[in-house]
Amino acid sequence: MSWTSHPSGRKARLPRDWSPRRLAVLRRDGYRCRALDSEGRRCKDRANQVDHITRGDDHSLGNLQALCSWHHGRKSSEEGRAAQRARPTQARESERHPGSITA
Ligand SMILES: [Zn+2]
Repeated sequence: MSWTSHPSGRKARLPRDWSPRRLAVLRRDGYRCRALDSEGRRCKDRANQVDHITRGDDHSLGNLQALCSWHHGRKSSEEGRAAQRARPTQARESERHPGSITA
């Protein structure tokens, strides 16, 4: 999972036929955002983004869904925060010096 530390290389991992694939997903979902709100109602916004349901390199149509830009942005930022949480904290421990009061 070392590729998670290279967010700038994310676009390079998209397949060569990403453009038609993306279009197929938008068409399949009727250009409607597939995100559900907390009550299970479907978002009413127009989808113009294609999202990977499970993060990674699975670009099959089954792992892709249409999302509006708001939901896609929200999901991306949640994934970003999850990646930050998963980062090891050992380096931070060693940065702590005796004079600091953290409690
Ligand atoms: Zn939405």
